[in-house]
Amino acid sequence: MSGVLQEAAQAPPEDHELRDEAHAAIHRAAFVNRGLFGCPIVLRDDEYWTDCPINISHLRMGVSAGLVSDFECSVCGELVEDCDHQMGQPYPKVAGRTAEGKCTLCDSVDCEHPEGEIFLVPAYASARNIKAGEVSFVARPRYPLARILEHAKDMGPLHDDPRLIHAAKHGDLNCDADLGPCKGFNEMKDWDLNDVSRSGADEGEQVDQI
Ligand SMILES: [Zn+2]
Ligand SMILES: [Zn+2]
Ligand SMILES: [Zn+2]
Ligand SMILES: [Zn+2]
Repeated sequence: MSGVLQEAAQAPPEDHELRDEAHAAIHRAAFVNRGLFGCPIVLRDDEYWTDCPINISHLRMGVSAGLVSDFECSVCGELVEDCDHQMGQPYPKVAGRTAEGKCTLCDSVDCEHPEGEIFLVPAYASARNIKAGEVSFVARPRYPLARILEHAKDMGPLHDDPRLIHAAKHGDLNCDADLGPCKGFNEMKDWDLNDVSRSGADEGEQVDQI
C-alpha cells in the first residue's frame, strides 16, 4: 500500500464532519491504487496477509491498553492520596539535579533553574510502578491511530491449494475490495462481546469505551 493511502486508511474519520468525504476519497484512491499497483495478499508464516486500504479503513476499531500505576506527588514524592498538596496548585520547591544532571523541576539538562534556588511550581501527579494489565479492541481508542495495520485472511479450504500458494508467493494474488462496491463499515456494534467475555475475559474490559 502506498504511504499516503496507508495514512488515509488509518485516519480516524468517525464523528468528524468530513467523514463522508474522507470515506469517498479513500474509495477513489484505493481504486486507482489497485489498478496501478494491485492489492497483494502475501503468504507469511503459513498465513495469507493483507494490508488492503479498504478493509483496514473500514475496520473501525483500535487498541486500548489498560494500565495500572501509582501516582506520586511531584512536590513531596508521597503517593497522591497520602499527601496534602492540591494537584495543579503552585508550591515552593527547591531546584535540584538528578544523577543524570537533569533539573528536578523541569526535567531538562539546560534550564534557568539554578540548584538550591526556590521556585513556585504546580503540583502534578506522576505515574510510577506502571503495570500493563490488559489490551482490548475498542471502537473509539483514546489514541485514534492505535489501529490494525494488517490482518490475516481466511482462505478456507483453499488455504493449501498449490495454485493459491504459488500466486501469493509471486505477487499475483490480489484483493478486489478496492474495486468496490462498498460493503459498509465494521463498527464493532454487531459484535457479540458478551460471548467473548464468557470465554474467560472480564466483560468490563472487553466493552471498555464503546
Ligand atoms: Zn484490497
Ligand atoms: Zn505532596
Ligand atoms: Zn529546570
Ligand atoms: Zn466504504
